[in-house]
Amino acid sequence: MEVISLAAGSSYFNSPASAKAAAIAALQHDKTFYGPTEGTLPLRRAVTQKYEPAGIELRPEQVLVTPGAKQALYNLFTVLLRPGNEVVVPTPAWFGFHELLRYTTAKAVPLVTHSAESYKLTPDMLRSTLSEKTRILLLTNPGNPTGRMYTRQELEALLDVVNQFPNLYLISDEIYDHVTYGKPFTSILSCQGAKAARTVVVNGFSKSFAMSGWRLGFILGPEELIKKCTAFQNATLSGVSVFVQDAAQAALEAQDEELPMMQQILASNREIMRNGLDAIPQVDYYLPDGAYYFFPDLSYYLNRTSITGELLETTPDLCRYLRGCYNLKLAPGDNFGASGHVRMSFAIEPHRLQEAMQRLRQGLALLTERAD
Ligand code: PMP
Repeated sequence: MEVISLAAGSSYFNSPASAKAAAIAALQHDKTFYGPTEGTLPLRRAVTQKYEPAGIELRPEQVLVTPGAKQALYNLFTVLLRPGNEVVVPTPAWFGFHELLRYTTAKAVPLVTHSAESYKLTPDMLRSTLSEKTRILLLTNPGNPTGRMYTRQELEALLDVVNQFPNLYLISDEIYDHVTYGKPFTSILSCQGAKAARTVVVNGFSKSFAMSGWRLGFILGPEELIKKCTAFQNATLSGVSVFVQDAAQAALEAQDEELPMMQQILASNREIMRNGLDAIPQVDYYLPDGAYYFFPDLSYYLNRTSITGELLETTPDLCRYLRGCYNLKLAPGDNFGASGHVRMSFAIEPHRLQEAMQRLRQGLALLTERAD
């Protein structure tokens, strides 16, 4: 039985043809030397243009091109965080934030949101978690692993609270901004109250553009902060390879032709996974508005005995059982701050997704039968 993984953080799509052609052309033109650390001007211009339709005015000086969104975050953490600082992370959250924060002197403070409340983060919850120690509030919109998208109203209500803390930076990780399912995406930068001096967006090409291996991301923020991040990047990594930046520019320019096909497949895959989950008793889930994951609650299936006689006490135990007996890989929610849940990507080939949902149903049904 072939292994099917729903645990990956990238899609099965190939990178856009426009990006590949531009990279090849750039190499043929020997664009193989150091480029500007902050990114090529044409790419930074193309990035600012991406935001224009939402009424967001940016200058190229407010853009830093980075080798991936991870590095964008790490640049920001290095420049902003000092010993004793705290970073508030609404949770469930992508495990990468904690991995990165381990290399800083700051402390991660999870702000727990709940599936029963549709992962809503209220101004009151935020107010009672922020303090003068908080240096960064790290939002992810759309959320990974929850798929939760903030509305404009929600964001503006949160900004009202954020703006009461003069030392605080709001970083919004918007890497899934084009991966949405009907509801409008709102960038934090288009919101009332997003004080330019303290609001930062991190984005990249790994998800929306299926370019994870190219290592391409960017930071949008106030010029002073971008300058500091550029100095750190100059001292460590230098600029992103110029032929890779040419590819990114081409992908941005062709996004209206290249992205809709991926978006349609993901929308139909979301239905496949939704129907698959609906066919399994006692599974609650939040229907994602964005990104390409479900994050269902499988806690009903814990503390049961597997066909091999093993007691499955934890979500990692359950995932090990599904991997061992059904060749199905899921990501345990413990990695995202929510045990009992699993993250399941629907960014795989539709026929394999159908098969994966059958395996999950069978695997869980057998546990139920044994326990009864
Ligand atoms: N932020 C989030 C929310 C992510 O899910 C990921 C990738 N899983 C990243 C950042 C990192 O992206 P990149 O590949 O651009 O480093």
